[in-house]
Amino acid sequence: MAPDTREPVRILGGGLMGLALAHQLARQGRTVEVLSRRRSEAAGFVAAGMLAPHAEGLSGDLLALGQASLARIPDWVAQIEADSGLRCGLRPCGIVVPFATAAERDVYPTAAWGDALDRTGLERELPGIGPGWQAGLLFRQDGQIDNRRRLMRALERACVNLGVRFQEGVEVLELLAADGALQGVRVRNAEGDLHTLAGGSAVLCSGAWSAQLLPQLPIFPVKGQMLSLQAPRDALQRVIFGPGTYLVPREDGLVVVGATSEREAGFTEGLTPFGQRQLQAGIAALLPEASQWPPMERWWGFRPCTPDEGPLLGAGPLQGLWLACGHHRNGVLLAAITADLVSGAMAGQLSAVASQQLAAFHWHRFQRT
Ligand SMILES: Cc1cc2nc3c(=O)[nH]c(=O)nc-3n(C[C@H](O)[C@H](O)[C@H](O)COP(=O)(O)OP(=O)(O)OC[C@H]3O[C@@H](n4cnc5c(N)ncnc54)[C@H](O)[C@@H]3O)c2cc1C
Repeated sequence: MAPDTREPVRILGGGLMGLALAHQLARQGRTVEVLSRRRSEAAGFVAAGMLAPHAEGLSGDLLALGQASLARIPDWVAQIEADSGLRCGLRPCGIVVPFATAAERDVYPTAAWGDALDRTGLERELPGIGPGWQAGLLFRQDGQIDNRRRLMRALERACVNLGVRFQEGVEVLELLAADGALQGVRVRNAEGDLHTLAGGSAVLCSGAWSAQLLPQLPIFPVKGQMLSLQAPRDALQRVIFGPGTYLVPREDGLVVVGATSEREAGFTEGLTPFGQRQLQAGIAALLPEASQWPPMERWWGFRPCTPDEGPLLGAGPLQGLWLACGHHRNGVLLAAITADLVSGAMAGQLSAVASQQLAAFHWHRFQRT
């Protein structure tokens, strides 16, 4: 059956994927409504904003998806900036991954995409790098975007300018279905009133909380704690991506430091002394002088993880329900391609290549065994 592109679309979750989808669908002329429980809890406001398919050492379909998204990001950002009138803070600054030995460097999964560095090369790219690092890989094509302060706001403004309707403080409690098709959602608004909203077209963008609405999705939270430091301007030019800790220098000298990866924490909120000590130790090992830079802010959030750490994209288990969730630690990188693929599938307009990309991330892959 051909998709009805006149039907309004409801976006369930107003985080990064929700905004990216709402923007793309509104550009296609769809009527879009975003239901958002709590804007501030979105991982889109937590992330470091690295665009790092190579530095992350991805492989297989996920690497290909990340590379496709990286290639798409400059045009995607230009469109958001045109639609919002705001800058997104895209910075193609390159990312350096340091290693204790050249042997470790040479077996890194994405080594073929980087420039091999020895100790002299490392010191040139990262003046002041700690003494424990003797080799590195420079991924010139990787970079960063200022998601926390710029991208999320620009996306919101672009959506508003395109007529997207936002409902903040509205929690989706239940998906309503009949004969395998979505019929609507049950919600509780900020005043505590319960309502049924009818409608047969929605995209699940509820991040780490997605399985609360669809328990058959294998999505679970991986907590991450972060902090930022005020560095002297231009003290650091490239992102340093160490094991367990990374430093991401924004244009104005703020350095974002991340991140713990806590699978046992569930949805436990808050900072922990252990997590913050872990980050301090990482900073001291990577760039000793950064231990002296004053901390400005500390925060945490929840990555939406799946067993293979790849997202769930495309048609969902109910007719009319689409999935854009489970992006784990690469959601900022993957937002551009996610918006393209999922909105394209909803319109029934995907190239053969795009259909293949989407098929690799269908939720059914977890039901094969
Ligand atoms: C510490 C940390 C560092 C990261 N660093 C990077 C990085 O450097 N690069 C990168 O590419 N990615 C990074 N990520 C990953 C990235 O932030 C996520 O993959 C991405 O934000 C996921 O987007 P999302 O829209 O699925 O979820 P979110 O942005 O979390 O949004 C989900 C939204 O859904 C809402 N919601 C949930 N349930 C309901 C409900 N029942 N009803 C209504 N609304 C609901 C929530 O309130 C929330 O606002 C990082 C993540 C973390 C936590």
